[in-house]
Amino acid sequence: MSRIRKDRAVILKTFPYSETSVIVMFLAREHGKIRCMARGARRSRSKFSGTLLTGSICDIVFSYRVSRGLQTLTDIETVYSLDTGRETLERVCIFQAAMEVLNYSLFEGEPDAGPFDLIENFILSLKESADPFTLFFAFEIRLLRLTGYFPHIYECGCCRADTVEKGFSVDISSGEIRCQDCSRRGMTAVSGEAAEKIYDIDVENLSEMLNIELNKKLRGEIGRMLHGIFRLHVEGYRAPASLGLLKGVI
Ligand SMILES: [Zn+2]
Repeated sequence: MSRIRKDRAVILKTFPYSETSVIVMFLAREHGKIRCMARGARRSRSKFSGTLLTGSICDIVFSYRVSRGLQTLTDIETVYSLDTGRETLERVCIFQAAMEVLNYSLFEGEPDAGPFDLIENFILSLKESADPFTLFFAFEIRLLRLTGYFPHIYECGCCRADTVEKGFSVDISSGEIRCQDCSRRGMTAVSGEAAEKIYDIDVENLSEMLNIELNKKLRGEIGRMLHGIFRLHVEGYRAPASLGLLKGVI
């Protein structure tokens, strides 16, 4: 039996379906990742028109049946939506990248309010961030922590030395962390400067890091390390297409 449910959700992705409908992938606070059919959404006078935008935070009403992979969206009201037309290209790309990473990292049928609260906080903070990359890395680190995949980067896995000041190396085929003295050939090095930034980004509240700016070298080091960890743990993960768009810009 299906039941009418309400939830707050963020739109991860939409796909056209048939001539007139749209399938929407939501991350809902209480229900986790769910797919809903928005019937008639492609018709010009649909009640859904203008609401099905990636990254929008919405209140949704849907008919839900646990045994069914596709639910039916009956109503939607936008709570917050990033005005992508008035944002910098960098922020828009980072925003899209966060949606892609989230979509890859979560599975349907595993409700958990943590990832929803994280992405909501990320979306609402993005507008005020001096450097959207700092916020993006903060988002990625927290998502890895929520899914249990963030490695113990602050201690050498071999001699137990503290790695925050001097930096460390990661084996991106196993996730092993070593200090620079114990590092082996082929490991990805993270400098002391980058390690300290990662530490700040990891422990501070999102609101505390809105002013942390990263230069190109630090962005590269931190981004490569996090990308390696995602690739190791998330099946089918690839670099967000929207970050590729930024390559010529940054
Ligand atoms: Zn060591």
